[in-house]
Amino acid sequence: MSKFNLNLEKKDNIIHPYRAKFQENFGKILGTEMGNQLEIHLFDYIKEVENTDFYDKSFEEHYLDDALSLYRNLNPEASVSNNYLKDQILSNTLSPYNLVRMPKKDLFRPKWDKIEETRLKDIKTEIEEKCSVVTTDMFRCGKCKKRKCSYYQLQIRSQDEPMTTFVTCVECGNSWRE
Ligand SMILES: [Zn+2]
Repeated sequence: MSKFNLNLEKKDNIIHPYRAKFQENFGKILGTEMGNQLEIHLFDYIKEVENTDFYDKSFEEHYLDDALSLYRNLNPEASVSNNYLKDQILSNTLSPYNLVRMPKKDLFRPKWDKIEETRLKDIKTEIEEKCSVVTTDMFRCGKCKKRKCSYYQLQIRSQDEPMTTFVTCVECGNSWRE
């Protein structure tokens, strides 16, 4: 059996050296067989989502990005210090098929939960600081009809949608979204 379960054509040459490298590195962590399997699943998955047989820049970047992220999370000695993903694969709790499809956040749940928690705390502190000083007459309170409000804006949907404005009336405490 050849090392790659795919018929490599000429155009594969660009991505080929990376593939060999990642098979080797995954293999060092998971054993040769599982390492190869994982890389092949990853490659097939990228092919599926990029929906192309042409290994252009976007394909290459996507592949490298995902492969590196997997490598860092599977290697307990990497700076990420993910100490459970490798065991999940080796104990067959998680299949390579599912692993390559996992959102990056889920590769190391406890770490991301911590980051998210800190991020939300920071935002909250920042908002509270801002709200305590800045008031505006830009908005009119629907309850008490006064124009003394504090507000902040957050990107709560996707990046290309407008920000959501959260307004609080400092007179009566009424709050709403604009
Ligand atoms: Zn009010």
